[in-house]
Amino acid sequence: MSARQIEIKSALDDVRAELKPGVELVVVTKNFPISDLEILYSLGERQYGENRENELSPKAETLPKDINWHFQGTIQSNKLRAIVSVASYIHSLDELRHASKISELALEMGKKQSCFIQVNLDPEELVKQESNRSGIRAEEFKAFSESLLKLAGVEIVGVMGVAPLNEDPRPGFETLRNLSQELLKVAPNAGFISSGMSGDYRIAMEYGATHIRLGSSILGPRRVGE
Ligand SMILES: *Cc1c(COP(=O)(O)O)cnc(C)c1O
Repeated sequence: MSARQIEIKSALDDVRAELKPGVELVVVTKNFPISDLEILYSLGERQYGENRENELSPKAETLPKDINWHFQGTIQSNKLRAIVSVASYIHSLDELRHASKISELALEMGKKQSCFIQVNLDPEELVKQESNRSGIRAEEFKAFSESLLKLAGVEIVGVMGVAPLNEDPRPGFETLRNLSQELLKVAPNAGFISSGMSGDYRIAMEYGATHIRLGSSILGPRRVGE
């Protein structure tokens, strides 16, 4: 094995040993080269997360077809056709106009697109400062999820959240768990909770995460700003 293979295997083994039963690990491969994804593949990983269509598409084209691609980045309408054509899951759905477009494209491709509803977990004062953070607000959740359930080409599978930076993630994870309970009342199959990144995945699992999205804890640091 190469040094890089040994490094990735060791980090992956550590995380796998910590996974609670039923929790799905998504390895966030954004900004990492195809060679790293090939190593992950040889170690049995089949769930990869990407944030940008222009990185997702070439990787999906190059790598084996039994990989499940999880799109978790900001959605741009003009990239949706490419995203829907390769993504098994979209974790970052937070706009109705995108949902309608996804539904249309999925039906055209003869599939249903599985999507998580992304919720903004920032406390109120932070939301006011950084209004461009992704995700819908908890207050909007009910109306938003009900509109999504009417779309024939979209399969809502659960909720997704990113805990606020440099703050205790617990209040956010608690909100997400409560919204998940709300969602289950109207969509009994939508029980997934995608939360938890390298810095907080153990806590996320305590709060019921079914999908954790880990990049740096498995692949090491990404280049700054990406
Ligand atoms: C980059 C990213 C991750 C992974 O982050 P790490 O801290 O490297 O584990 C998870 N989720 C989203 C939405 C991301 O953008």
